[in-house]
Amino acid sequence: MDKLFTIETHLHTSQGSACAHSTGAEMARAHKAAGYDAIILTDHFFGGNTAVPRDLPWEERIERYCAGYEEARFVGEEIGLKVFFGIEWAWKGTEFLTYGLDKAYLLAHPEMEDWDIPTYLTNVRAAGAYVSHAHPFRQADYLTHAPRFFPEYVDAVEVWNCGNAKAEYNDQALSYAEKYGLAQTAGSDGHDAREMRGGGMRFYTEMETIWDFIRAVRTRQPCEILRGKKKEF
Ligand SMILES: [Zn+2]
Ligand SMILES: [Zn+2]
Repeated sequence: MDKLFTIETHLHTSQGSACAHSTGAEMARAHKAAGYDAIILTDHFFGGNTAVPRDLPWEERIERYCAGYEEARFVGEEIGLKVFFGIEWAWKGTEFLTYGLDKAYLLAHPEMEDWDIPTYLTNVRAAGAYVSHAHPFRQADYLTHAPRFFPEYVDAVEVWNCGNAKAEYNDQALSYAEKYGLAQTAGSDGHDAREMRGGGMRFYTEMETIWDFIRAVRTRQPCEILRGKKKEF
């Protein structure tokens, strides 16, 4: 058997996310120490719990949004951890992990923070991005809208999220993915380097770029879902 490749698909930095407690550098070091081979930074975009002030010019907002990722990537190169870019785009509490976009795309699309959900999903997927519906059945105080589902507009479903407060939210997500034949992702949704939850995915292939990850998920390569430490359940 080839070497296993462990990747975190969902995590936040304090540069990008108001609810996160650790910088990109701290997150990179913590994940390297915990044995990950790669991490995907997915800070909350501007419709979610962003740390970026709204009243700055778009270019400055994007620079700040990408700062956690860029710092993690810099540290990752030093310590031998692959660091990939992603975003967690949100509209009124419905969130989508989006893989395969880059800073140039964000800079070129200042209108994207005002897109409604179908418009966002249609446009970014047309641009080549791959989308997993993040924790689709989560219930929490900060989520004031009922869950909404867009199975025909997404590629995958996050079937395990260590940040969900109840196991049933993950069970429902798995059933949803299976019902619609959607691909599956799993992640820790980490916000704090001192609280490593141990989630993610473990593959049998090396990954050099985000496109290797996307291909692996899209083609349903065999992988282990890492459930990590349980939060409340
Ligand atoms: Zn958050
Ligand atoms: Zn998240």
